[in-house]
Amino acid sequence: MTQETHAASASEKPTRVRIAPSPTGDPHVGTAYIGLLNYIFATQRDGQFVLRIEDTDRTRFVSTSEAMIFDSLRWLGLCWNEGPDVGGPYGPYRQSERTEIYREYCQKLVDSGAAYRAFETPEELEAERKSQIAAKQPPKYNGRSRDLSQADIAANLSAGKPFTIRLKVPAEGSTTFRDELRGTITFDHFNVDDQVLLKSDGFPTYHLANVVDDHLMHITDVIRAEEWISSTPKHVLLYQAFGWHLPRFWHMPLLRNVDKSKISKRKNPVSLNYYRESGFLPNAMLNFLGLMGGGMAQMTEQEIVSSGASTKESDIFSLADMVAKYDFNRISLGGPVFDLVKLKWLNGEYLRKLSPDEFFAALRQTVFSDSYLKSIVPLVQTRIDTLGSIGDMADFLFRDNVMPAESIWVPKKRTAEETLTFAADLLTTLEAAAWETAAIEAGMKKLGEEKGWSVKENFMLLRAILTGSTQSPPLLESLIVFGKARSLDRVRRFIDGQKKLLIQASRKP
Ligand code: GLU
Repeated sequence: MTQETHAASASEKPTRVRIAPSPTGDPHVGTAYIGLLNYIFATQRDGQFVLRIEDTDRTRFVSTSEAMIFDSLRWLGLCWNEGPDVGGPYGPYRQSERTEIYREYCQKLVDSGAAYRAFETPEELEAERKSQIAAKQPPKYNGRSRDLSQADIAANLSAGKPFTIRLKVPAEGSTTFRDELRGTITFDHFNVDDQVLLKSDGFPTYHLANVVDDHLMHITDVIRAEEWISSTPKHVLLYQAFGWHLPRFWHMPLLRNVDKSKISKRKNPVSLNYYRESGFLPNAMLNFLGLMGGGMAQMTEQEIVSSGASTKESDIFSLADMVAKYDFNRISLGGPVFDLVKLKWLNGEYLRKLSPDEFFAALRQTVFSDSYLKSIVPLVQTRIDTLGSIGDMADFLFRDNVMPAESIWVPKKRTAEETLTFAADLLTTLEAAAWETAAIEAGMKKLGEEKGWSVKENFMLLRAILTGSTQSPPLLESLIVFGKARSLDRVRRFIDGQKKLLIQASRKP
């Protein structure tokens, strides 16, 4: 049997859209991209734009993340009508404050037979997964608890066995839904796992909480990244099990690195903090993200010639232009490329449009802000004799590019290759560290012990990468002042740049 459901009555309701970021780290450029599209969609239709925080995955929860998400969306000017901080009629908007609601709805599914209690332990599931992988089968829950008798369930419960609640995906048939950009999409039920809805700790998974909230918050259009398409059949089955109307689904093409792989921090800075702290202007960033989906009509060659504009000028538009002209039916599904070269060019164009006063104000809000300059004072005050020599000591905190010579960054008795291998591990260590001197130091020491690198070598390498020099203000404090996003980017660019140089050198006859 094929189950097909359309978003039957969604069209008559006032538009309500949402973004639902998970606070798991730095605010991501993907959140801004999807946020922008939702904002445009809502504003074009006089609708409401909701911000919901999906913080039910407690293992990945980062306490500072939510405030950073708010901050960076506000920096971009993508303000929401309802959300955890501004309230609204369908709150709370933070999922960790709604766990009772999910439990209640999940119980309804158990009562109706659409979901069931599964008593397998994590160890059993892991063993099963391993044996499926060994047998070259796709890992899938084997359904052992699907048809337990009432007596077995009662016995397990009275024995105090922990359980999860899983969705009972029909064994046969398929689920079909409409994606507004792609048309009809069908998933064979054989390929849809009995998704866990409620974990043994009583917390919901993303799937349950997301569907319950989209329904209770009256979301008419779910505009999210393409990576969620494979979750959508599970969501559709949930809507059907509850007897709810579907929202419309719009899955946006994923941002890609220049080599067309999915955007990743290995190849591009993905933290909005990086762009903000490096002095990208919010309007340039929005313009750049607006170019990504292809929804803005670019001028044709003929229009460009007759208007006397250059192609590049037709790439430049404001948020108001996007609200006026962005056309969701034009979106092209080819992966938009997040090309930093283009973003930098755009940012330069925006900088040149500023009056000298505005340019000065922009500097004072970012790379020459009071707070940044104040944070540098303790690094330099005891190390310089005239104020004018601050640049000798702290230039690396104002530069975009620092590329030290090999004589500086390769420790004695090490090769360039092994140093770069260690630098890659160092990058992973720094990424995982809370941005505090003690945590960074502990991470570096642990890595040094594992890899047989002395503290001296370790610090020397990172100092060279960060400052381009063998001498500098204290390294750990300098990292804190420069900030996590920019420090990580510097290390990543160093590794990429030096690798390229090594390859070029090895090719020389
Ligand atoms: N919490 C999900 C995320 O982090 C939301 C996905 C969705 O929009 O459904 O992207």
